[in-house]
Amino acid sequence: MNARHAAAALLLLGLLGCASTPDGIKNILPDALKKDERPVIAQIVSTDSKERNWAAESEADLFSRRVSEYVVPFLPAERYLNELLDRVRKASPVPELPAKVYLTSKMSLAADSTEGHNIYISLGWLESVDSEEELLVLLAHEFGHLALRHHDSDGFFNAQKRLKILSAFIMSTANQNSASVGADKLSTKNKRVLNNQEILIQLMDALVHPMWKREQEVAADKFARDILSKLQISAKAQIAFFDRLAKDEEQVALAKKDAPVKVDTDFTLGGVLQSALDELKSYQHPKAEDRANEIAEYADKFYSEVRKEPKSSSGKLVPKGLDTLRKSPQFVSLQKNYKAALEAESAYGNEDYELALKKARLAVAKPTENHAYPLTELLKALLKEGPSLKAPRQIARNRKEIDDTWRRIARLEERSWTSYAVYFDNTSDSLETKQKVLEESFRYFREAPVLQVHRVTYYSKWGNSKKAEELAGVCAMKSPEYRDLCHNAAKKGSRKS
Ligand SMILES: [Zn+2]
Repeated sequence: MNARHAAAALLLLGLLGCASTPDGIKNILPDALKKDERPVIAQIVSTDSKERNWAAESEADLFSRRVSEYVVPFLPAERYLNELLDRVRKASPVPELPAKVYLTSKMSLAADSTEGHNIYISLGWLESVDSEEELLVLLAHEFGHLALRHHDSDGFFNAQKRLKILSAFIMSTANQNSASVGADKLSTKNKRVLNNQEILIQLMDALVHPMWKREQEVAADKFARDILSKLQISAKAQIAFFDRLAKDEEQVALAKKDAPVKVDTDFTLGGVLQSALDELKSYQHPKAEDRANEIAEYADKFYSEVRKEPKSSSGKLVPKGLDTLRKSPQFVSLQKNYKAALEAESAYGNEDYELALKKARLAVAKPTENHAYPLTELLKALLKEGPSLKAPRQIARNRKEIDDTWRRIARLEERSWTSYAVYFDNTSDSLETKQKVLEESFRYFREAPVLQVHRVTYYSKWGNSKKAEELAGVCAMKSPEYRDLCHNAAKKGSRKS
């Protein structure tokens, strides 16, 4: 694991290329948006997007996302969020632009939009907003990234695309590691793996929020401001949105202070990685407070009448559909179960497997009995329970429950790659069976580019270096952006044999 991480990190530095030098970053900053004297919304040109197969791109994007994250299959929330997005879209100058919202399992405030024109909003966001208007601000911001074509691939955005590829890989690896402490006891080696994983996550944090993303964030905020005024929603909602982000940033900073990450010298390869990390971290991503100030200035310039509006006229923010959704028994149960799954996950991380199993069992209940997240946590905990059992009847029951749980996971309509990583790394099925499952999962995830790397890695790990090398070739051809990672994964196997 260490070597693989180190290799990935080295590659990463190579791939970063210009972005790892300060001048490189400054040179690729777009400044076109700064100088335009019109509201952002007036700068958008409607382009003919018919050439692209949006449905296929969106689907491929969704399946790629499921490699690194849990997408929550909860229709009422999806329907509601997409209705809100429709309001944003219709108020925009590009009402025909395709976009779809999905809910992810994260309890933190996480939201992003992708090249496939999907918007992913975390359960944490849905839970914490005070009003529907705040959700509209969030969706308008994300839709703004799409309308402003922040995902298109010109020179500047190519650099960002490279970073996205890396972060997708790091995310999927990080999940995999947390799922596969494996059969051996948690030794110093494993502790080091966990440590490295934290570094990777930190590195990813630095990568996905680089300083040069600032311009895009501000532009998307301004777009959101424009949409709000079109929808005749008071500026209050956007202020609340920034307040929430600021509070979240404070908490994240506090948490980081409490848990300083020790850097493993093995992994950093003589400090190379650490210095790159320090450099990346020195570029601050836009703080919520700065964003709020920038929007206040922008609103002053273009929407002074709206700002002068007396508070009473905008009235109290009335939670409508949001209230209905959040008070529905189904949503309340879903929330409870996902929290239990999260508790199971952290108990597992703390090596309290008994608690992990208890919480996971609670999580696998209606209406989430067929959701990948709780089922995967249950599978992980059951696999840990096995070795501690003595009585033959208990052992047999454990084995049956493992089989049942895995079968349920493998039949799910909406799966996640993490479940597969748990299965490959921790079950005692034959290599032949595992290979079959790997190929089947590869098809299920629509041959997601990032999975090419994992596929090569597993064949390599399973001692089939010939197949690994062959697949590395396929990977280079089909997903050239992952060529280096694939070749490296194959090389690692051949070196061992
Ligand atoms: Zn953004």
